[in-house]
Amino acid sequence: MINKKSRDEIKRMKHAGHIVALVHKAMKDAVKPGISTKDLDDIAMDIIKSNKAIPTFLNYNGFPASICTSIDENVVHGIPSKNTILEEGSIISIDVGATYGGMVGDSAWTYPVGNISEEKQKLLKVTEEALFAGIEQMKPGNVLDDISGAIEAVANREKYGIVRQYGGHGVGHAMHEDPFLYNYSVGDRTLIKAGYVIAIEPMINLGCDDVESLSDGWTVRTKDGKASAHFEHTVLATDKGPELMTIIREEFL
Ligand code: MG
Ligand code: MG
Repeated sequence: MINKKSRDEIKRMKHAGHIVALVHKAMKDAVKPGISTKDLDDIAMDIIKSNKAIPTFLNYNGFPASICTSIDENVVHGIPSKNTILEEGSIISIDVGATYGGMVGDSAWTYPVGNISEEKQKLLKVTEEALFAGIEQMKPGNVLDDISGAIEAVANREKYGIVRQYGGHGVGHAMHEDPFLYNYSVGDRTLIKAGYVIAIEPMINLGCDDVESLSDGWTVRTKDGKASAHFEHTVLATDKGPELMTIIREEFL
């Protein structure tokens, strides 16, 4: 069942999303050759806690950190480590969740580490474009398949792979609520209503669609070893159109 969020729930979700966005602002500055993914996790944890929020990912199904850090061919769910040092030319997907007042904000972004190849630059640009093409469809009267199809069309245009096993999701009191949102068209005619909140999150690959899990039980990587990017915003459907929840807001600063 998909729950419409009340005004009060939406306010708390915006606050959670604001904190997630503060973390991403810090990540953008901190991602450089030589920093470890554990250092990034420490920075994220500090920001989340100093803003009186809870790191949603920590202990989620046993996940050991406050952010996911997935480098190059790693798609999602990478575990921060002091032994994983960022190298020039890599890309790193950082996924962040914060719970404030019992409500969750969820957003991911892929960052370049120093100078990256044109191929990777394009992957980042196109995956971000796919996210915003999906977001544009998050409005009352549309159906979930409008979002899925918009994301898929952008990836298909570039002949990129789309990760099939993971997708977007409703979010609110829990990080994963109904509905599941595919990043490719499956014909889901579920109507979008004002008050629905969905984390829209295309995961797009330079190569094939296929992914596999590593032996750490968490990290998901592309089967062909080619790079993958991941961009995500938590988005509210309103009568005026889609509204981003995971952005910095003056009122909470
Ligand atoms: Mg996420
Ligand atoms: Mg998510």
